[in-house]
Amino acid sequence: TQRFIWPMAQFGQIINMYQRARASAERIFGLMDEPSRLAQDPDAEELAVSEGRVEYDDVNFGYDENERTVKDVSFDVDGGETVALVGPTGAGKSTVLKLLLRMYDVDDGEIRIDGQNIGDVTLSSLRRSIGYVSQDSYLFYGTVKENIAYGSFDASDEEIVEAAKAAEAHEFIENLPEGYETMAGERGVKLSGGQRQRITIARAILKDPAILVLDEATSDVDTETEMLIQRSLDRLTADRTTFSIAHRLSTIKDADQIVVLEDGQVKEHGTHDELLELGELYANLWAVQAGEIDELPEEFVERATR
Ligand code: ADP
Repeated sequence: TQRFIWPMAQFGQIINMYQRARASAERIFGLMDEPSRLAQDPDAEELAVSEGRVEYDDVNFGYDENERTVKDVSFDVDGGETVALVGPTGAGKSTVLKLLLRMYDVDDGEIRIDGQNIGDVTLSSLRRSIGYVSQDSYLFYGTVKENIAYGSFDASDEEIVEAAKAAEAHEFIENLPEGYETMAGERGVKLSGGQRQRITIARAILKDPAILVLDEATSDVDTETEMLIQRSLDRLTADRTTFSIAHRLSTIKDADQIVVLEDGQVKEHGTHDELLELGELYANLWAVQAGEIDELPEEFVERATR
């Protein structure tokens, strides 16, 4: 069947256009810049990040009070680790990350960064500590340089170029009509999805956050661009705590932890090898992906496509 809406595409046939369209709709970035409606304790302290350890402790959340979207979610991520969130569309992956960014407050439970409850710290310090990159990257109308420096307003030109180089973006930027001064964004020069993505990767590299949220929806890019993006992402995520709504098989496979969400709950949790060993949904999807079995066993179909 081709009905899986699991984000395990790229190499495989299991990608679903639907899912991609949906990923585009999740404009976490736009939300991030909105003034928050959340209350802030006047005594809130600045978040002090040391290791970048993140703990989800029995987190519950619902968009409305009658329905829980995130149910008893607990997992710990050590500083510098990468965690891949996978699961069917609607499982709650984006929501789990929105709670970390405090676009919404948890109803119950706690999320801690280096031991500090994120509900107790200032929003500005929290968001300064977290970078966000998606394929559907948002560029505003302004120069390429301004787009990279967004969020790091005191960056020097040299630092901006360094970040662009690390993001594999320097070369194409230099070839734009006015280089770093070229206007981008709406009404600006037309850039491909892969180029836009690398500009936001440069932005994140420059911002240098301890924690990174990555929505790595696959884009329609050629193999070479794909490779450049992968390389720049590797640089970006190295030594940073990274949460990834993972689409590339390599990201999932190499993650320090994989959290399988279904219906707002953590259903499977472990490394790739551990989950294969477990022999449940993840293992079966992987087997389909790898061509080891032709079809997902009936008992898992409903879980994978819900
Ligand atoms: P995933 O990222 O795994 O696809 P989401 O976190 O986007 O899942 O969504 C989880 C559930 O929450 C879905 O049922 C979705 O319809 C619902 N949901 C997502 N965003 C909102 C919102 N802003 N308001 C109400 N419900 C939402």
